[in-house]
Amino acid sequence: MIQSYKKKYRALDKYDVLMIGSGMGCLSAASILAKENKRVLILERHYTAGGFTHIFKRRGYEWDVGIHYIGEVQRKNSAIKIIFDYITDCNLKWADMGDVYDKIIIGEKKYNLVKGVSNFKKQILEYFPKEEIAINKYVDLVFASNRAMKKFYMSKVFSKILDFLIGGYYKKDYLKYSNKTTHEVLSGITKNKKLIKVLTGQYGDYGLPPMQSSFAMHASVVKHYFDGGSFPIGGSSKIVETIDPIIEKNSGTIIVNAEVKSIIIDKGRAVGVKMVDGKLFYADSIISGIGIFNTYKKLIPIEIVQKHNLLSRLKMIKPSVSHGCLYIGLKGSPEDLKLPKHNLWIYPEKGSHDDCVKEYLNDINADFPLVYISFPSSKDPDWSNRYPGKSTIDIITLLPYDIFTSWQNTEWMNRGEDYDNLKEAISSRLLDILFKELPHLRDKLDHYELSSPLTTKKFVNYDRGELYGIDHTPERFSQKFLKPETEIKNFYLTGQDIVTAGVGGALFSGLLTAIAVSKKNLFKKIKNSVL
Ligand SMILES: Cc1cc2nc3c(=O)[nH]c(=O)nc-3n(C[C@H](O)[C@H](O)[C@H](O)COP(=O)(O)OP(=O)(O)OC[C@H]3O[C@@H](n4cnc5c(N)ncnc54)[C@H](O)[C@@H]3O)c2cc1C
Repeated sequence: MIQSYKKKYRALDKYDVLMIGSGMGCLSAASILAKENKRVLILERHYTAGGFTHIFKRRGYEWDVGIHYIGEVQRKNSAIKIIFDYITDCNLKWADMGDVYDKIIIGEKKYNLVKGVSNFKKQILEYFPKEEIAINKYVDLVFASNRAMKKFYMSKVFSKILDFLIGGYYKKDYLKYSNKTTHEVLSGITKNKKLIKVLTGQYGDYGLPPMQSSFAMHASVVKHYFDGGSFPIGGSSKIVETIDPIIEKNSGTIIVNAEVKSIIIDKGRAVGVKMVDGKLFYADSIISGIGIFNTYKKLIPIEIVQKHNLLSRLKMIKPSVSHGCLYIGLKGSPEDLKLPKHNLWIYPEKGSHDDCVKEYLNDINADFPLVYISFPSSKDPDWSNRYPGKSTIDIITLLPYDIFTSWQNTEWMNRGEDYDNLKEAISSRLLDILFKELPHLRDKLDHYELSSPLTTKKFVNYDRGELYGIDHTPERFSQKFLKPETEIKNFYLTGQDIVTAGVGGALFSGLLTAIAVSKKNLFKKIKNSVL
């Protein structure tokens, strides 16, 4: 297990590639580069590796933090499946969640999102029989946006000159979709507000309601799950556990409890990093996977930031919303408790998603604009081998960072009675929502604890407890600096911010960064090696 070893530095002083952060982006890049014979060092600040794919254990339970379902891994020739197989030597296995992957609940009405695009359409048509034209048009647009996506992301690894010559051509089709909000596109094809509310019922997967989110992001998430959802067998920690041996095999390593303080730049080139404890590591290439705000504001020396006017770029993008997650432990196996595999998305009956978010941000005691309930233990066929007679549930909602600012300088687990009381009030509201849906669980409750945006800040280092890095607004997709190569020689970016949030987005960012570092077109090689 990655968390029980590698705690002490036992690294060399010099590597081929050094990565800051052990999230999905870095892990993916690390495995690909290790297979290109690069000796890779990953430095992770947390006591465990994986970024948001990490797990934590308490009171005899285990919870996954940032994975509830992943799409496209059951389809042999999907890009996500191919890359996952490549970076894990096919050792990461996936369990299908079944025909229904998401259930959207609006007031008393329930809408299933069903696997398979024709089933999806048929099911939505049953709920909205007069909307056939709109539903068909919607699905066509979702596919059209995704078709344009490939070229857009390929252009992120173009050299400066190539980008100048043909970058615009490669990007323009996707920008047609990404420049519009989800609401603009959907309201252009239907006036049925309920249908729009249902079709955007997964907006929590990217954090922004329809009037604020880019349609391209919406379309990419919706299409991602058209083939259903899957969960890693053995839990999310299997991701790092199956990648780590590949890094080690090529004399690389992952070190936890290792916080990078700054990047060492010599004559305009990144040459190494300085750790918080003063230790120095050197490498030919340095990759940051800790998010663009963290990278620009914390890691890069101020004179370099000023030279390239990097902070002005941060004005073009925004940190995403923050969240709270109620981690629940229950007595009884998932089968005994009849826990579903699909996720529940619960919304207030009245108002659009945007109105509900606005109302809640004005008054935190208003209805939660979104409550997401996931049943990880029932999704993982290996769960009961590890935790017999137990189950877990995660409930996520939006929690603004601002309501927690007064405790931002307090210590984790010791933030004071007011903080605990606020968390208890939120937990109890979330539990009521769970018990309304699944009343038989009330007696089975064994443990619960709520994370707040301060928890995310403490463990994953996002300053405002961001759930998804930077926001998926239309403006985000036009920012040319969100790509692997930077103007600092030998210094690269990876992770969700340079593609999109989501394990798939971060996974793909790792491939892009590996291409930028190795200067090889690895797309073809990876495809051929797995198929
Ligand atoms: C609650 C939640 C639920 C989610 N559910 C899903 C889901 O069901 N499906 C899905 O596809 N996606 C989901 N996501 C999104 C997905 O988990 C992320 O988009 C993805 O994992 C981000 O990967 P990343 O490479 O950007 O790195 P991150 O996961 O952001 O990791 C960055 C790492 O850098 C480390 N770090 C920061 N600063 C330093 C430093 N100075 N020195 C060293 N290390 C540092 C951090 O500790 C962290 O480990 C979810 C996310 C959250 C938060």
